[in-house]
Amino acid sequence: MPAEGTFAHLQLLLEIMAEYVESSKPIENCQICRSIDLQSVLFIGYIPPVNTMTDIGSVPREEPAFPLEMVRCQACGHVQIGLEVDSDILFPFSYPYLSGSTRILRDNFSDLYDQCRMVLQLEPSDLVIDIGSNDGTLLSNFYERGFSVLGVDPSRASEVARQRGINTLTAYFSSETAASIKREYGSAKVISAANVFAHIPEPHLIVDSIVELLDDDGIFVSESHYLLSLVETLQYDTIYHEHLRYYHLGAIIRLLEPHGLEVFRVKRIPTHGGSIRVFAAHRGRFKVDISVSETLANEHLAGITDGSALRSFRDRVIRSKVDLHTLLAPIKAKGERIYGIGAPSRASTLINYTGLDDGLIDCVMEVSTSHKLNKYIPGTRIPVLDESKLYVDQPEYALLFSWHIADELMSVLRNKGYQGKFIVPLPTPVIIPLDQ
Ligand SMILES: [Zn+2]
Repeated sequence: MPAEGTFAHLQLLLEIMAEYVESSKPIENCQICRSIDLQSVLFIGYIPPVNTMTDIGSVPREEPAFPLEMVRCQACGHVQIGLEVDSDILFPFSYPYLSGSTRILRDNFSDLYDQCRMVLQLEPSDLVIDIGSNDGTLLSNFYERGFSVLGVDPSRASEVARQRGINTLTAYFSSETAASIKREYGSAKVISAANVFAHIPEPHLIVDSIVELLDDDGIFVSESHYLLSLVETLQYDTIYHEHLRYYHLGAIIRLLEPHGLEVFRVKRIPTHGGSIRVFAAHRGRFKVDISVSETLANEHLAGITDGSALRSFRDRVIRSKVDLHTLLAPIKAKGERIYGIGAPSRASTLINYTGLDDGLIDCVMEVSTSHKLNKYIPGTRIPVLDESKLYVDQPEYALLFSWHIADELMSVLRNKGYQGKFIVPLPTPVIIPLDQ
């Protein structure tokens, strides 16, 4: 082969390698205080990106898997993961998640609207911006009462929002996006970020942009999955690459403070198995509610502030994995069937961490409108199939991957005609007897 050809070949190889290397990078500093003193809480394994699902029947091909480790900053107590995966991999345009599709979320956003109105005088001309606005479910509460709204979301859900009349930009929220919004719309009276504030890399840059966009008398409301709930009820399955940070209130205060933002109200809410809604504003604008000091005291008591709760967390997670296999062993020995219920992102972490495969779980059921139908659970050959199959086949067991809403789910499935037993995998794996 001529030397020139070899060179071109090498160059192509280097380009491919560069692309591979750039799809993720280790996070070596605390994203809040910049300390490098990060200690491992739990290494979950090499986990595939949850939104990359291949079609049923496709030939298995090479697929990426990224290390997933929860770490705690020894300097400030903040908890995060140790790797940032390229957002184009994590949030493809086909991102198959619509927030409007769950009742808990719809009720929650209606409650968020009520609380905003309680703390703030709003005029119809006031602008409300939602970061990561998805299909516009949160903003619809403001839009339907005549307020001016703007959503920002990079996924296909932004099209759904526009179709229902919610003004939405298809974009990531960045300093450039914030600057162009400011030029076109002016400042915002309310900026919300529900279940996205933990997803965006470089939180200090995002807070800078929020401060830049926020009216002098405006409020910033964030909702994030709550570290205390995660630890209390062993929700390690909510750890995945999209979730870069696992907030407690102490960490959020330390994140906002250097930017002149003061937390003045906090509420624990039921979404995603336990979240916190945090209200902040320019320092001194709002009276600080007692919920702030109460929440901090509670975090202190629970061992979140000094990290003691995180140390026992790892042992409890490992025990639950062993317990799940102990529970499944006699069922599989009898040749009985287990169908999974629901394929939320958290199912992928649980399945991959505990090593469930298509020999243990026959298939996973999803509703007929789900974008995940007829695909495989990431990292496995477990097919995701239409829920109607559950009522026809009547498998002996149904394993609930959305176990954080187990009671609600079991009653729905019973009413639809499922007659078998339920398995709730976490926090302690249990079989729910037929008479319950
Ligand atoms: Zn830190």
